Amino acid sequence: MNILIIDDDPNVRKTLGKILKIKGFEIEEAGTGAEATASCRAKFFNLALIDMRLPDTSGLEVLEAVRALNEDTIAIMMTGYASLDSSIEAMNKGAYSYITKPANMDEVLVVIEKGLEKQRLSLEYKRLLKELTAANEKLKELDKRKSAFVANVSHEFKNPLATIKNALSIIINGLAGDTSPKQKEFLSSAKNNIERLIRLVTDLLDISKIEAGKMEMRMENFDIVILLNEVLVDYERELAKKEISLKKDIQEDIGAIWADRDKISEVVINLLNNAVKYTPAGGEVGIKLIGEENELYFEISDTGPGIPEEYKDKIFDKFERITSEKTEGTGLGLPIAKDIVELHKGRIWVESESGKGSRFIFVLPKDFRGKNTSR
Ligand code: ADP
Repeated sequence: MNILIIDDDPNVRKTLGKILKIKGFEIEEAGTGAEATASCRAKFFNLALIDMRLPDTSGLEVLEAVRALNEDTIAIMMTGYASLDSSIEAMNKGAYSYITKPANMDEVLVVIEKGLEKQRLSLEYKRLLKELTAANEKLKELDKRKSAFVANVSHEFKNPLATIKNALSIIINGLAGDTSPKQKEFLSSAKNNIERLIRLVTDLLDISKIEAGKMEMRMENFDIVILLNEVLVDYERELAKKEISLKKDIQEDIGAIWADRDKISEVVINLLNNAVKYTPAGGEVGIKLIGEENELYFEISDTGPGIPEEYKDKIFDKFERITSEKTEGTGLGLPIAKDIVELHKGRIWVESESGKGSRFIFVLPKDFRGKNTSR
C-alpha cells in the first residue's frame, strides 16, 4: 500500500512518513501541488494525505487533480485550522475524510485504515461488476445464437412436415388408390401428429421472430366472423371426441376489420387449443364475439381447472406452464397470442377462479390506424 504525503512543511512530511513507514506503508512526499500532481500522474497511490494550504495552489485544487487522475485514490485532507466549511467542500469534492493538525497519530491511523478498507471494498465491487457484466454479455450472445439455431432448425422442419402432411392427406382421401379402413385409421393418426408438430414448429418460429423483433404483419380487410367459423370447423372432431359442447354467441354482422388475418387466426387457434386441451371430457367451451363501435370483444371460456390468481400474468410469459407434467405443450401459445394482440394495439387477459374454468378475453381495435385503439 502506498501513500503520498502532500504538505509544504518538511517536518510534517518527515514525522508522518516515519510512523507510516513503520506501519508498513510505502511513502512518497510532495511539497507543492505541482509535485503532487506529477507524482499521481506517474503512478497510482492508494491514499493521499493533502494539506489544505500549499504554496502554489489550494489543497482543494490538488484534491480535484488527484481524483481526476484516479478516482480510486483515497484522499484525506489535513487542515491546520478547524475550518468546517472547507472540510465540507472537500468532502463534496470526493475527499474521504479530514484530520486536523497537529495530527493525533492514532486518529490518523484509524482514518487511513478505514479509508483503505473502503477502497478495498470499492475495488472488489468494481472487479465483480466487471466480471458480471462480461458474463452477462457472454450469456446474451449465447442466448442469441441458441435462438437463431432454434429458428433455423424449425425452419428446416417446416417444409418436410408440410410435404408429409400433404402426402398423407392424398392417401387418406383415396387419391392415390384404395386404402383399407384400418390403414386410414393409422394414417389419420399419423396426420394428427404431423399437424401437432407443424403447430409446434410454427410456435417456435413465431417466438424467435418475436425475440428478434422481426414479426412481420400482413394487414388486410377481412370478415372476422367468416374466419372464426373456418377455424371452428377444424375443432368439430376433437370436440366431439371429448364430448365437449360448444356454446356460440357470435354477432354475425360485425363486417370487415383491418388486421393480419393469419395472425389473428393463430391467436384464436392458440386459445381454442388450450380451452379444448384443458377442459375435461363432458365439459363446455364457449365462444363470444361482439363488435362494438371501434373494437372487437372476443371471449373463449371453458370449464377446465381455471388459473390460480398468482399465475394470471405469468402464463403470458415464455415457457411458463402451471401443470407442465400433466399436459403436452410448450408454454409458447399464450405469449405468442399476447404479442400478436399487442402488435394490433389490443389487449389480452384472463379472468378465472381456480377450479371454476377460465375466460380468455382479447379486445382488438377494428382498425388500429384510427385514434381510438384500446379500452
Ligand atoms: P401450453 O398450453 O403449450 O403449455 P400456453 O402458453 O398456451 O402453453 O399456456 C401456458 C399455460 O397456461 C399452460 O401450460 C397452462 O398451465 C395454462 N393455461 C392456458 N390456457 C389454459 C386454460 N384454458 N385452462 C387452464 N390453464 C390454462
